[in-house]
Amino acid sequence: MNIEANQDWVARSIAAVWHPCTQMKHHERAPLVPIARGKGAWLYDHEGSRYLDAISSWWVNLFGHANDDINRALKDQLDTLEHAMLAGCTHAPAVELAERLSALTQRTLGHAFFASDGASAVEIALKMSFHFWRNRDKSEKREFACLANSYHGETIGALGVTDVAIFKDAYDPLIRHAHVVASPAAVGVDEAIAAMRALFERRASALAAVIVEPLVQCAAGMAMYDASYLTRLRALCDEFDIHLIADEIAVGCGRTGTFFACEQAGIWPDFVCLSKGISGGYLPLSIVLTRDDIYAAFYDDDITRGFLHSHSYTGNPLACRAALATLDLFDSANVLAENRRKSSLLHEVLQTHFGKHERVTNLRHRGTIFAFDAVIDDKTFSRRFFANALKRELLMRPIGATVYMMPPYILSDDELVLLAQRTRETLDATLAEDAA
Ligand SMILES: *Cc1c(COP(=O)(O)O)cnc(C)c1O
Repeated sequence: MNIEANQDWVARSIAAVWHPCTQMKHHERAPLVPIARGKGAWLYDHEGSRYLDAISSWWVNLFGHANDDINRALKDQLDTLEHAMLAGCTHAPAVELAERLSALTQRTLGHAFFASDGASAVEIALKMSFHFWRNRDKSEKREFACLANSYHGETIGALGVTDVAIFKDAYDPLIRHAHVVASPAAVGVDEAIAAMRALFERRASALAAVIVEPLVQCAAGMAMYDASYLTRLRALCDEFDIHLIADEIAVGCGRTGTFFACEQAGIWPDFVCLSKGISGGYLPLSIVLTRDDIYAAFYDDDITRGFLHSHSYTGNPLACRAALATLDLFDSANVLAENRRKSSLLHEVLQTHFGKHERVTNLRHRGTIFAFDAVIDDKTFSRRFFANALKRELLMRPIGATVYMMPPYILSDDELVLLAQRTRETLDATLAEDAA
């Protein structure tokens, strides 16, 4: 192994790659991690150093890197059919995936529409909702509502229902804004429902849909709220004839303890958006699931009443096959039950490290999402924590002062204990730098 290799790749990357979610100038001082390969929960650089992927590579990797089962399925698919267009054609991976996801909703959401990224899925759900009302001669229903601090992606349409200033403010003049309503994570369920009701009473005839991140507003800093909010929001949407869109891009696929987060509220939305973990972290794939009665409103002799959204790679067989292999893993390994056991173990260990830590507040968890807030007022905290974590073989990327873990589901008990221990060391080292 070439000792120069790490540095070489970093220099070439800085020279040619525009990295996402990054002020590139910060890389003059902050490290960029050159990844050579991955196996299980670990990523390796070119010199053999390893990093525990404690955030599942931006929340996508559920069953580890280079997973043997998913690899086998993809190699087989590669030799069978890499891609065929889904307009006018069909293929087994898309059909089987649509069928299996529908079955997971007890066939409540009977049709699946495919795209490749989360923001596109959100925009598709918004377009479908608007177009549904238009087909039902209610084209005045063209407004949307979202929650304060919501995150639904960063294309111009998705930014319209996103409320995170750092991603949105620069593009404000380009955006068609949704109504932003108080979030239960900030004001509690009663007040948030009252605020939504007040909006509905005022604007129901103009509102097509409300979009929410069920249970956890992840990008806002792992802000968690009670499932009863979703139950009551569902009832409110029914009362006022407004669609409910559940953006389960981050919280779906078992992340909060049930396959769909909405299951914990005992409801089904009118649209569910899935992406991130659905392909096991292998390939870009997103899916919008919707009810058959919504699908039926587009079914007509008139082409313009159809949903004409087109995307070149829609239903890509490799991505769908990765998703099918991921669903197989859920079926074969009793993942949700095992995750419950691991979650309480990690929560217990985190409690011993951080429960009484004087610079830590709001230690919280939901399913396999764990977070706490560091008591610090310093904009460089996240970057310094990231660098200190790397020195301790952890890949972690705090959101502001919120330190979170969203590990792959395959961590061993020993790895969970190591994760908590090294997170403690990283936090203490980062805080000690202030004093120095
Ligand atoms: C990541 C995310 C998105 C956007 O998905 P991309 O694939 O990054 O476009 C949308 N909504 C939520 C809740 C997300 O976490």
